[in-house]
Amino acid sequence: MAKEFAWDWISRNESQMIEVSDKVWEFAELGLLEFKSSELLAKTLEEYGFTVDRGIADMPTAFVATYGSGSPVIAINGEYDALPGLSQKAIAQQDPLEEGAPGHGCGHNIHGVSGMAGAIGAKIAMEKNKIPGTIKFFGCPAEETYSGKVFMVRDGYFDNVDAAISHHAGSTNTAGIGSSLAVKSAKFHFHGLTSHAAYSPEHGRSALDALELMNVGVNYMREHIMQEARIHYVIEKGGMQPNVVPDYARSWYYIRAPEMSQVDEMITWILDIAKGANLMARTKHVVDVVEGCTNVIPSKSLSDVVVGNMREIGAPEYTNQEMDFLKEMNKSITKEAKIELLRMMKRPDWEDFVDVLIDTTIPDPWDKGIVWPGSTDVGDVSWVTPTMEFTTATGLLGDPGHSWQTVAVCGMSIGHKSMLFAAKAIAGTALDLLTKPEQLKAVQDEFEKRLMGREYKCPIPDDVKPPHEVAREAAKITRT
Ligand SMILES: [Zn+2]
Repeated sequence: MAKEFAWDWISRNESQMIEVSDKVWEFAELGLLEFKSSELLAKTLEEYGFTVDRGIADMPTAFVATYGSGSPVIAINGEYDALPGLSQKAIAQQDPLEEGAPGHGCGHNIHGVSGMAGAIGAKIAMEKNKIPGTIKFFGCPAEETYSGKVFMVRDGYFDNVDAAISHHAGSTNTAGIGSSLAVKSAKFHFHGLTSHAAYSPEHGRSALDALELMNVGVNYMREHIMQEARIHYVIEKGGMQPNVVPDYARSWYYIRAPEMSQVDEMITWILDIAKGANLMARTKHVVDVVEGCTNVIPSKSLSDVVVGNMREIGAPEYTNQEMDFLKEMNKSITKEAKIELLRMMKRPDWEDFVDVLIDTTIPDPWDKGIVWPGSTDVGDVSWVTPTMEFTTATGLLGDPGHSWQTVAVCGMSIGHKSMLFAAKAIAGTALDLLTKPEQLKAVQDEFEKRLMGREYKCPIPDDVKPPHEVAREAAKITRT
């Protein structure tokens, strides 16, 4: 059987896949700067006979690797960006490799390589069994910051894809069917006039005043927005020192809601508040939309295929040494914090997991109808093709995520096992979709039903390009 052949191939070649994952873990490159990581993945796919198109959608670290021809076209996505300041050794106590440097706190080294290994496994099985169709591995930059996939969707790279699958490090082996919040991010630039703040304040116009008035307005608006919405901001520039009236101030806002139309409604209100603040402070202002991503359209039928494959493969087992590692790491998390986290997961009978170190079950997804309070650029892919991003248990249950604990497990055998398990689930799912037209049809029928005739609208304006300069600047700041 083609699937067993692919799984066996992944097992036989696991040392190479682990080596790639560990290198990406060591590189720990930030969004849009993943030069070494993306090249390593692209080169490995080329070695196995994929044709690679590098630098797509105006991003040097984005690529698409293709094998085969004709339909169906199955996409497999992989990410490889790290997070700032999370450098950590692959050990059970907090100890940075390099103080202040980035680390894979969201496990994207596992994410990129599970997809790559799954794509290669599926390709080898297609070749051996003469299975027609196309596999496309998408190397997706900057998930954490600049939503790389949105630019790839905007440029049409997912237009002829029949279904897309990917994996993410997580706390459970399952394929969730919840959604995420749509988000837009905007920067508000206020311009005033400098003057001596004591001698001639009447000649000054404070950009900081305008910015603060805007924030006050938005915080009053907050009372009248829907429960699931989120608005958060930072002040990026607020002047240099108190005796100079600041002539420039800048805030950065995230605005989130279950649907993009709701985000847009809130933005219209916020733009009016900014205008009002501007009038009050006698300043000028400019608004830049930086980025955005759309809510996830779930797929129960893709979830069924992925969970079915996970159960056929069987969840990883852990050695005594690995369990001791987790026991040691567990000391870094209080019981109260773990209870809070489990409650938030909304899993039925979550109380049974309070003393569990790593979840080895493969449950049915329990999040039907739930909108999780984060956002992801996977959402944009899910509006143009049926999409599933599933999780495998990658480390300590109770790990808060974006944490040193995640970095540590993703650089050692517990993370490797999660990656190989996910690679096999990806290969199995891709081969099912390529060889069982009735399953692919069910996936596509559900997709049409959930879209309800709505069309995808890219949240990023046509003239906004991937923010390479911003990414380079951010990397400089986070290094110091
Ligand atoms: Zn992530």
